[in-house]
Amino acid sequence: RSKGSVIVCELIRDIAELYKNRMEMQNIKFSLMAEDESVCIPGNREQLEQVFINLIQNALEAMENGGNIEVVVYRKNEKLVIEVRDEGKGISPEIEKKIFTPFFTNKKNGTGLGLFLSKKIVEEHMGRIYFRSTEGKGTVFFLEFPLVKT
Ligand code: ADP
Ligand code: MG
Repeated sequence: RSKGSVIVCELIRDIAELYKNRMEMQNIKFSLMAEDESVCIPGNREQLEQVFINLIQNALEAMENGGNIEVVVYRKNEKLVIEVRDEGKGISPEIEKKIFTPFFTNKKNGTGLGLFLSKKIVEEHMGRIYFRSTEGKGTVFFLEFPLVKT
């Protein structure tokens, strides 16, 4: 992979902008909170875009009744943590072990590849991805990356 560094908040705002109309139509409010808007992670912008497109798209698809999508960015233990929180239908215990598996989907037109590819990209960036979900309340995806030392 290329050794660039990506201003992650800028990237997330660009992705949110892409989904602006759809969010309005679905009555969804987006917000990004960051303790430092200029933090960077080492890596490739195009690949990291794919990760956030997948996560935001999944959040939108889980939120038929509107609500909030919040992204929170902060440092913890020399890592950068990004939380993508939704107020969607949540992930049931029966499927939580399967969602990163290729071709697992419970959507009519799903590919089941979004999270599989996202995990692959995150791991190629020396990061990890995991989630916590409550059925009927929502889901939080956590991403952890090494920080670019400035
Ligand atoms: P696809 O979106 O094509 O179904 P993904 O790999 O992106 O494939 O997601 C796999 C499955 O994980 C989804 O079909 C859905 O059941 C579940 N899932 C992923 N993200 C969320 C979310 N934010 N809320 C609820 N379910 C989710
Ligand atoms: Mg998806």
